[in-house]
Amino acid sequence: RVANPLAEYPNRDWERLYRDIFRHDRTFTFLCAPNDTHNCLLRAFVKNNVLVRIEPTYGYGKATDLSGRRASPRWDPRCCQKGLVLGRRLYGDRRVKGAFVRRGFKEWVERGFPRDPVTGRAPAELMRRGWDSFVRVPYEEAYALHARALENIARTYSGPQGARYLLAQGYDPAMVEAAGGSGVRTIKVRGGMAKLGVTRIVGTYRFGNMLALLDAHVRGVGPDQALGAGFWDSYSWHTDLPPGHPMVHGDQTSDWELFAAEHAGLVLVWGMNWITTKMPDSHWLTEARLKGTRVVVITVEYSATANKGDEVIVIRPGTDPAFALGLAQVIIRERLYDAAFVKRYTDLPRLVRLDTLEPLLARDVFPGHREAPLGNWTRVLARGESAPPAPAQDGMLIPEALRDEFVDFVVWDTRTGRPAPVSRDQVGEHFDRTGLDPALEGTFEVRLADGRPVPARPVFDLTRQYLDETMTPETVSKITWAPTEAIVGLAREIARHGGRTLFAMGMGPNQFFNNDLKDRAIFLVAALTGSIGRMGGNVGSYAGNYRTSLLSGVPRFAAEDPFNIQLGAAGPVAVRSTMRYESLHYYAAGEVIHRAGDKQFTAGAHVPTPTKAIWLTNSNSQIANTKYHYDVVFNTLPRQECLAINEWWWSGSCEYADIVYGVDSWMGLKYPDMTASNTNPFVQVFPRTPLRRNFPTVSDLDTYAGVAAALARLTGDGRFDDYWKFVRDNRVDVYLQRIIDGSAPLRGYNIADLEARAADGVPALMNTRTYPRTFSWEQVHESKPWYTKTGRLEFYRGEREFIEAGENMVVYREPVDSTFYDPNVIVARPHPALRPVAPE
Ligand code: SF4
Repeated sequence: RVANPLAEYPNRDWERLYRDIFRHDRTFTFLCAPNDTHNCLLRAFVKNNVLVRIEPTYGYGKATDLSGRRASPRWDPRCCQKGLVLGRRLYGDRRVKGAFVRRGFKEWVERGFPRDPVTGRAPAELMRRGWDSFVRVPYEEAYALHARALENIARTYSGPQGARYLLAQGYDPAMVEAAGGSGVRTIKVRGGMAKLGVTRIVGTYRFGNMLALLDAHVRGVGPDQALGAGFWDSYSWHTDLPPGHPMVHGDQTSDWELFAAEHAGLVLVWGMNWITTKMPDSHWLTEARLKGTRVVVITVEYSATANKGDEVIVIRPGTDPAFALGLAQVIIRERLYDAAFVKRYTDLPRLVRLDTLEPLLARDVFPGHREAPLGNWTRVLARGESAPPAPAQDGMLIPEALRDEFVDFVVWDTRTGRPAPVSRDQVGEHFDRTGLDPALEGTFEVRLADGRPVPARPVFDLTRQYLDETMTPETVSKITWAPTEAIVGLAREIARHGGRTLFAMGMGPNQFFNNDLKDRAIFLVAALTGSIGRMGGNVGSYAGNYRTSLLSGVPRFAAEDPFNIQLGAAGPVAVRSTMRYESLHYYAAGEVIHRAGDKQFTAGAHVPTPTKAIWLTNSNSQIANTKYHYDVVFNTLPRQECLAINEWWWSGSCEYADIVYGVDSWMGLKYPDMTASNTNPFVQVFPRTPLRRNFPTVSDLDTYAGVAAALARLTGDGRFDDYWKFVRDNRVDVYLQRIIDGSAPLRGYNIADLEARAADGVPALMNTRTYPRTFSWEQVHESKPWYTKTGRLEFYRGEREFIEAGENMVVYREPVDSTFYDPNVIVARPHPALRPVAPE
């Protein structure tokens, strides 16, 4: 019999097993930073040298800026389920454990690069990517093979013989010409979403810039003629770029930091699954609702965000531009628009000539007209003058060669009943001071300087006619399948929340062929109601982590002049980009340019060069996840002779590579690195971690330095080696400090301090003008011009190609994708400003 079971309880030592599950030996902090735009410092717990669990650092509320201002504790905890299980990635069976070289590629190099005498092609039997096997080799051997291949490719495709080979391989003559006789130009580099590692990933571009040394060696040209590699885009390639944004405001993308939600009266979550994809920032949306913000979700399916909305409007995929134009029609028809905003900040009052459909210019109308000088936050760079470094720039800089694009335009002044010139400087208060009251509606006969009369109408009036005749709620309902009353009701809501509507746009609608029109139409709705440039009223587009402009000092690392290398830790850095930008779309479409009949649509700087060698880091989107994957792998990739990939997880792209370098994960970085985000206000440092390397991996930076050292040995030119001095010396902080010193929102920070803070789980705040950062703030609050020809938000494109395409006005085109109607057709009744060149 047991009198007291608790006192008599048998040995309980076994319980220690459970208590010890969460015991750890030590902890360390690392930064999780995939392309989800968030970035989270996480604390890892280590037991017996094994990372056993991860949790948030709870350090975000301690972040401060240079003035000591502190972030809200509401930023904590910051993490998501994916970050919490990263240990599985760290130890997973698909980690790349070492350096691997494809057997056929190795043989090709070791046999001295045999080639077809006519075409220069490598033997097909040695280029069996995807079927061939890999050999694990020491990293040094892989670097040497890689360097030899790059040198041979540069030599083979340089000069007249190189051009003959490329033409014999079937490349378009315009592409061959674009290479400028340099084989180095056929080498392409791509660091995927490079901002996610400003030295680790951007280093791929630094490597490409360095290759001008190889060009100088191969072609025997001087530094002024030497060309670097080609480099590919990420943001636009991923369809993250909203292409209508630059057409409206002149910058890459307008955005607002997600914690602005509670400043708004109305948030439209449009084609964006905020709750699912903005994990650590989803609470800002739900908390905004608690504070009274109304949330309307516009979507093509019932998403996780849909059930967080006060209202859900489901539309047919790809009809977003029509939906926005329907909203604009109601706002104009019911005269709910903000006329003052429209007249002060947009080009809607600008007169368009009905004869040519081009905007009327002041010099066309007023005899002897002299263009107004540009002085509102703008300076014209004299010919030959180079732009100062980003932190020293106070406003826009316009090269003199482009000055003629930024000329005075014309409005119809209702006070005098005459046309009047308006300069680019005259935005906001500057426009008020002109005393003009421009007409928004009407047709006016304007006498040109040569005496000829031309009819002209304001952009607003042309747009209004199109909307009234084509984009009524009833028609838009038929196109989009949204109920008529939902279109009318939402338009009134947006107008009621004038200046306080946030448009949160996802990348879903970016996928459609007509996505530029989607952006232009949404900006039209926002501009009509004054919801631009305000903390609670703005347009934002959310996809990848793209905004490198926040780290404007990056060129001090990526584009250091390879012929003038700064070997001192503190000296000035000479910046000179030797590379050539190309869009990856041409590669994915079979390495062709667009021609139709005798017209070459792809011209000038858009023409890509042939691709013979590729180096990809942090990127699975060009090969394995590419659009047209089959075509790329079977028809395009065989034309390349060297494909190197850096990965920490064996991806589908690795399967088709020639060289795969296994690199460190975020949890095992041995050099510090840095990143920032377009959706939150933090600059974040990847601290070095004490975690022992479990597998034979190296840093991405070691791979660039390693191949550079092999090139130095091959060519006898020590500058290849010097270019990576601070990697070799384990002083990557020198490169990071250079970037910080050159970045306007970071200048004043010290990398050692930022790394120490990060190791403690605390980020730092970017020093931007507003918190949250607000695109167009300066324009709307300080009357500064946007980055456009008129200095205003532009809704009319007068360039010839837009007029020929029928997209001079914001119209609706049925997308070519997922439609059962006539693809690409412009939905419009006959209109005096729509004269597209039609198929014969
Ligand atoms: S939200 Fe993104 S950055 Fe943060 S823990 Fe999750 S995956 Fe990592």
